[in-house]
Amino acid sequence: MDYIVFDLEFNMFFKFNEGDSANPNLKNEIIQIGAVKLNEKLETIGKFDLLIRPVIYKRINPYVKRKTNINTRRVVQGTPFVKAIESFNSWMGNDYILCSWGHDDILALRENCLFFGFDALVFNKFINIQQIYMNLKSLTKQPSLESGVEGLEITISSPFHDAFSDAYYTAEIFRRVYDFSEDAIMDWEKVQVENELRIEELKNQIDKATICCPECGGFVPKNGEVTKRKKYFAFGHCVKCNLDIKHISRIAHDNGEYSIVSNNNIYTIDEMSD
Ligand SMILES: [Zn+2]
Repeated sequence: MDYIVFDLEFNMFFKFNEGDSANPNLKNEIIQIGAVKLNEKLETIGKFDLLIRPVIYKRINPYVKRKTNINTRRVVQGTPFVKAIESFNSWMGNDYILCSWGHDDILALRENCLFFGFDALVFNKFINIQQIYMNLKSLTKQPSLESGVEGLEITISSPFHDAFSDAYYTAEIFRRVYDFSEDAIMDWEKVQVENELRIEELKNQIDKATICCPECGGFVPKNGEVTKRKKYFAFGHCVKCNLDIKHISRIAHDNGEYSIVSNNNIYTIDEMSD
């Protein structure tokens, strides 16, 4: 069993031109995969570093460019995603545990595989190294990779926000914090499928929310409503307080739990003229 400590850089939507729009099925498009392979003794036995040519968000978002130093000219020379993920998959071998700093990268990896129709990657074993670090240091807020590197006094040898150097730093942290406990290994695929079912269930309930007046707490009849993906808006008027009420319900995620969070606000004249 090998540990694949990986890190990704992504590009995302940016409104370069009037009329540009985001693809709701792919929020983060992978533009770089960096990874370090460790054996059972956590010794480095392989390296992977590949730049990927984006096809959905072809121009690099200025924020991404500033952060990663990756520009459009560089990614144009990159490997198409499916080719890149095929070589990543064969480089990983058959028996591996995916490991990364936080949830964002594995979420994006699974999302990109689903989007591009690549189903050979196995997400049933995942270790969140950030979580192990947080438990060790009794942290409640998610620390950055930089702060993990500083916290463990790891020598900084290359810039952050490059997928390969971030994977290297994550592996350095992993070596120092992992106690080989089986409890750290989660079935990411199972968790995601459960989450997706939960989100669907909540989407079916979201428009059942009732409007309350924030002033008097009374029930307010709806006189308008609109549902947008994971958000629901409704409007009403409290006769008792003579106030227009705007209701927003959204599917929120907190500590692994999904729920509907609702807000009722007084709708002012200023907002209405917008
Ligand atoms: Zn009221």
